[in-house]
Amino acid sequence: MAELELQNVYKDYKLDNKQLFNALSDINVSFEKGELVSIIGESGSGKSTLMNIIGGLDSDYKGEIKIDGKNLKDFKEAELDDYRKKKIGFVFQSFNLIPHLSVLDNVTISLTLSNIKESDKNARAIEILKKLGLEKQIKKKPTQLSGGQKQRVAIARALINNPDIILADEPTGSLDSTTTEQILEILKNIADIDNKLVIMVTHSEKVAKISSRIVEIADGKIIKDQFNSDYVKSKGHPALTVKTTSKEGHLSLFSAFKLSFHNMWASKTKNFLMALGVSISLISLILMLSLGSGLTGYIDDTASNYTNPTIVTLSKSGKDRYGNDLNNNSMSFIPQMFESEEIIEIEEELNSYLETQQNDFRIVSEGENKNISYGFSMATIGAGTLVYQNADESTNSSMIMYTYTTPPYYTQDNLLTENSYLSGQNEIMLSYAIVDFLGLENPEDVIGKTVTLKINLNLGDETINIDKNVTISGIVDVSIFAGMMVMYIDYDFLNDCVKEAQINSGNTDALGLKPSQLYIQTDSEETTNLINEYIKRNRLDLSGSVEEQLAAMFSEMMSTFSIALAVIAGISLIVALIMILVVLYMSVSERTREIGVLKSIGARKKDIKLIFSTESLLIGVLSGIVGIIFSLIIGGILIAIFKSLIGFAPISMLWYYFFIALAISVVISVLAGLYPASKAAKLDPVESLRHE
Ligand code: ADP
Ligand code: MG
Repeated sequence: MAELELQNVYKDYKLDNKQLFNALSDINVSFEKGELVSIIGESGSGKSTLMNIIGGLDSDYKGEIKIDGKNLKDFKEAELDDYRKKKIGFVFQSFNLIPHLSVLDNVTISLTLSNIKESDKNARAIEILKKLGLEKQIKKKPTQLSGGQKQRVAIARALINNPDIILADEPTGSLDSTTTEQILEILKNIADIDNKLVIMVTHSEKVAKISSRIVEIADGKIIKDQFNSDYVKSKGHPALTVKTTSKEGHLSLFSAFKLSFHNMWASKTKNFLMALGVSISLISLILMLSLGSGLTGYIDDTASNYTNPTIVTLSKSGKDRYGNDLNNNSMSFIPQMFESEEIIEIEEELNSYLETQQNDFRIVSEGENKNISYGFSMATIGAGTLVYQNADESTNSSMIMYTYTTPPYYTQDNLLTENSYLSGQNEIMLSYAIVDFLGLENPEDVIGKTVTLKINLNLGDETINIDKNVTISGIVDVSIFAGMMVMYIDYDFLNDCVKEAQINSGNTDALGLKPSQLYIQTDSEETTNLINEYIKRNRLDLSGSVEEQLAAMFSEMMSTFSIALAVIAGISLIVALIMILVVLYMSVSERTREIGVLKSIGARKKDIKLIFSTESLLIGVLSGIVGIIFSLIIGGILIAIFKSLIGFAPISMLWYYFFIALAISVVISVLAGLYPASKAAKLDPVESLRHE
């Protein structure tokens, strides 16, 4: 039985206009082990077509090809892959080495596809490379080799699986005459010493002369088949091939990653730039999430700092009961105060509402058991000043921007230093700006300092002049307003100051201050909610504390803002996905030849898919890492800027945002890689090898 037998083989190429082009017709020939066959014939006569069919790269032919008596047509896809991997060794005119792999990795690639142990495959490859005189080149990349060296590497690759047939399509076509002789010598030894069937396509009569048999093809037909009677088998050389015993499998995930990594490393600039592009969307995503949680955290903090579940805070909203703007005082700094009749009206209205709700709590605005307390706040820009007398008698003075009375729910938590305490008679508390104002390093040293407080309170129908020495009892945490001079003062003390000023100015009534805030101490959170709900629905002329309103406004802003950011992040992720898709798609067409080579040495569709999929996964990881690093840098810068501008940063980068970003990056990369990977897997090996 012949090693290889072709019977009635016909090959037609389908042309674009559905016509057929006959490239081979009625090929009948058989070959034996140990033969060195030269196929000669003019360019276009069908030599390569014949080689591709024999090599299992082209299955679209008529007739029969028998290997050890078995018909190639009957092979299943997996058997055909195995046939290419182990039975056949291909050598090409243009070497077809994989540029981003080292000489050693080029030779071992088909063993890698069989998942053979690293040490085994390297030992086998090094042994063959040594015999071919390449032991010093194993770490080099193909571009660092001469033509002859490249072709020897290609021969080593063809021999690594100890195949029975070597198919060499114009192996010396790109070599000079000296190197040609070396390569021919090697091929002759493979036939003579290793007893393989070597079929070599050549143009040159001179090359053909050294072979044991010459087959001539013209117009797709064998026109001559001649044995060389002068052929002398060479002797005394060691065999080139190495017997294989290792256990075989399929391309492992680890090896696929390694191959992808090599390829990505070979075009690192391109990949880094792409990762940078993708990372922009990840950065915006991370920053968006961090800003979202930073602001939410800030609002929650503010809300819990400035509210108390058993206190209802009421102030005038500047609207009437029906929600129409009152407009009267809106441009002036005159606070909107409650008249005592209004307070009683509110008390009665709420109490009757509570009664209908079967709630036992009642508001008491006067007397022993009163549970309403008063507050007052106003902008004092231009109306309030603080004067500090230095040791040398010179004075510092600062404008007070806002004056608040201390709400009943304020505790030590609202104060910034340990030695701060809530102010009482002849005392005030100030925001952090007081530290700079007094020229102190240590905020603790502020406590106990005496300053002169001068305020012209414009109450609409009268102006109150307060001029009093007061002691600073504390620094109040006013978060983003820390840089402004904000004063907190006890309501009763302020009320006394007002009365005193009224008496001093000859006002005998001296009725004191009217509140601009009412604090109702309830019995439970339930009652608080009940009252707040009622106010919200029925008393549009009233609103909660300034802080509560601010928090509400903030969260409303936040939700609009986060929708906008989510849309931007979503769009940029789609852009990133398309970008990866384009780059991988281009990578597939750039590497078409490499894919052809991989198929010619027995790579399965699955293997090709795996190599490209792991590459897209690596791109995802790389982009994710780049995105995380830049997010940390940009986030850090933003936090520093915010801190220096407003004293706190509404950015909170939680660790799992980075995992979310990494996961999204990997998912979109893998998704983007699906199509290019399956396109690569489906490429036709013959066409891929012909690809320029
Ligand atoms: P050789 O290797 O002898 O130079 P080939 O086997 O490559 O010749 O080609 C044989 C003939 O088939 C040529 O005329 C060539 O143009 C034609 N041919 C090869 N490949 C294709 C193809 N994919 N589609 C159409 N015609 C082809
Ligand atoms: Mg050819």
